[in-house]
Formats: sequence, structure tokens, C-alpha cells
Amino acid sequence: MHAHHSLQQETLGEQARLLHDQTRDTLVAAPLAWLLLSYVLWPAVSHSALQWWLTLRIGVDLAYGYEIIHFIRRKPAATEARFWINRHLLILTFSGLAWGLSLPILSPASQLYELLLLLFLCGISGANIIIYAVVFRSCAIMLLTMWVPILWVLARRGQALDHALALAGLVYVVVLLSYGWRASRLLSARISARLENAHLNQVLQHTNQELERNNAELHLALQRINELATHDDLTGCYNRRFLFNLLQQEQQKSLRYRHPVSLILLDLDHFKQVNDQHGHLIGDEVLRALVQRCIPQVRQTDTIARYGGEEFVIVMPMTEESTAMMLAERLREYIASQPILDTPPLRVTLSAGVAAFQPGESCEQWLDHADKALYAAKAQGRNRVVSATQLNPPAYLEHAS
Ligand code: GH3
Ligand code: MG
Ligand code: MG
Repeated sequence: MHAHHSLQQETLGEQARLLHDQTRDTLVAAPLAWLLLSYVLWPAVSHSALQWWLTLRIGVDLAYGYEIIHFIRRKPAATEARFWINRHLLILTFSGLAWGLSLPILSPASQLYELLLLLFLCGISGANIIIYAVVFRSCAIMLLTMWVPILWVLARRGQALDHALALAGLVYVVVLLSYGWRASRLLSARISARLENAHLNQVLQHTNQELERNNAELHLALQRINELATHDDLTGCYNRRFLFNLLQQEQQKSLRYRHPVSLILLDLDHFKQVNDQHGHLIGDEVLRALVQRCIPQVRQTDTIARYGGEEFVIVMPMTEESTAMMLAERLREYIASQPILDTPPLRVTLSAGVAAFQPGESCEQWLDHADKALYAAKAQGRNRVVSATQLNPPAYLEHAS
């Protein structure tokens, strides 16, 4: 409803603009028309009457010119269009009358000159139709103000030729009116179609922008979701879900390229006591600190993931079990060597089980071998590292098969 209303308003605004724009051009040519007419009628009219008529003509056109310049300078909003069109129509009424009164004012001495004048006026009204077709009312006013006085004068005379001329003039005016009517319908349809297009374009652009914004937001949300889905909330390292995907990938790479891959399963010693003595919040702090300590100690290609409560897995691609053992030992020593927290001053140790991937085993079996080694490390007194192959060989081989 509102959109429709504003389209109508905008169409009217555009009509007002076109009306003023086009009449500006004809006004520039108007003096040529007066001069030509004066030149043609010079031998057949009273010069004082011609002067009188030219004064009227110039006065009206000056007012007309002032109105148009005023409009073009002001560029009034579409909401004021009706007002400006009405002003234009008022001045046009005077302009049309000035043309229409040329016959009674000048009253050429012979019928030939009178015919010349009528021909001239036919030319002017015909040429103006397409200019005033932008607003049909202006067409109608232009034609009626020009021709009603002329037809009136002709019809009041007694001669048959005058009556015939009046009739011909009437037909001419009716034809021009219908022509103007059709032209104005076409023009206003084209104007509103163009405005509607522009409006639709704007809506489209706006929708596109919104879509782009939404897309960007969605992209960020997706990144965040991905982050949440693959990372551990508490410590920020990778989570168990990510770990299992990674282990499967590393197993496949290992099988395909015949490279070794090992993992360390580490578990804090007596962590329950930390919680019991200092509370869960301090326990959480310790877990976070542990991950922060481990990150610089492992290689860029190694991955730390939280496996369970205070158990972490470090995946080491391209690494033999013996090398993984060395790295695990170094890490154990490093953690044991200095306090994990300054306030409260707190030390922890860790135990670890190390296992290299054996072709043919599943993730769970691989982790189970590391878990058994970890269990052995705990059993041997904690704060130590045990590898799967160090375990009782027969039992180990039994598991591997
Ligand atoms: P062990 O040397 O045998 O590993 O002794 P432990 O006390 O560390 O062993 P256990 O597995 O029995 O206890 C693990 C404790 O870790 C139990 C639980 O209270 C604590 N824990 C697990 N997850 C979290 C956590 O997210 N935050 C905190 N603060 N504590 C946790
Ligand atoms: Mg523990
Ligand atoms: Mg545990």
C-alpha cells in the first residue's frame, strides 16, 4: 500500500521534472517563433497591434522562464510535484491564451495572411504536443487556450469559409488531443516502470548486502562451531573426538607410506589428592598449566589431545617407539622438575605409557597397549614412563594379535 503510494508520488515527481526540463528547451526557441511570425505578418498587420501582442508574448514567456529556472534551481521533492505542476499549468494557460489571442489582436488584413497565421499556430501546437504529453492536462490546456479563442472568432463570423476553417480547426484539435492522450499514457507507464525497476534494484541490492552480512556471520559461527567441536573447553587442546579422527588418519598414512607413528598416554599422579586438598578449581588450573607446559615441549607436528579427566594423549607422526620414549621421558622430567603452579606452590608428576602403532590394530587396541604400559608405570611407583614393548613380551604379543 505504502510502496504503491510512493511509486505514484515518485512518478508525479518525475513528470514534473520532465515537464519543466522539456519546456525549458522550447522557451529558448520561442523568440525565434515570435520573430518569424512578426516577419511574415509584417505587411498585413497594424504595427501597434503587433507591438502590443509581442509585449504580451514576451511578458508571458519571461514569467514562464522564471518559473522554469526557479523549479530547476530548487529541485523540489516528489511530494511537492502536484503544487509545481499546477503552477506550471497556470502559466501555460496565459502562454496558450497569448497565442490564441494573436488572431483577434493582430487581425491580418487579408484572408491569405490569416491562413498563414493559422498554419503557423497549427505548427506550434503540433510541435508542442509531444512536449506537454508528459502531463496530459498540460496538453489539454495548451490546445484549448490556443484554439478556443481562434475557433470562437472564426465561428462568430458569418462566412462559409470561416465556418469551414473553424470545423477543420476543431477536428485538428480533437486529433491532437487524442494523440496527446495516448502519448501521455505511454509516457507515464514508462516512467513508473523505470521507477519500479530502480526500486526493485535497490531492494535487490539491499537484500544482497544483507545476505552477504549473514553469510559472513554464518562463516564465523561455523568456525566457532568447528572450534568447539574439536577442542577441549577447559584446557584449549584438542578433544577426544578430534583425537580418534586423527589416530585413524595417522594409521592410514602409516600403512600407506610405511612410516612409524607413536603415541604417549600420560596421566597425572595422585591427582585426586590435588582436588581433595586444594579444590576442583585449583585442579582445573593445574590441567590448564600442564597443557601450556607441554605445548612448547612437543614438536610442531605432534598433537596434544585430552583423552579423559586428567589423561592426555600426544600423537607423534614419523616417530619410532624408542624416540617417543625419549620425548616422554624428557617431558616427565620437565614437569617433575618445577612447580606446576606458583600460587599455591604446587608440584605434580606424571606417568606415561608409550606405544607405536602396529599394522593391523584398531585405534582402541593401540590406545589399550599404551594404557597397559601406563598402568605398569603406575604399578612401578609412578613418575615414570613405560613402553608397550617393555611389558611382558608374551602378554603384549597376545594383545597385538
Ligand atoms: P593416579 O596416580 O592413580 O592416577 O591417581 P589419581 O588420583 O590421579 O587417579 P584417578 O583416576 O583415580 O583420579 C583422577 C581424578 O581426576 C578424579 C577427578 O576428581 C579428577 N578429575 C578428572 N577430571 C577433572 C577435571 O576436569 N578437573 C579437575 N579439577 N579434576 C578432574
Ligand atoms: Mg591420575
Ligand atoms: Mg586418571
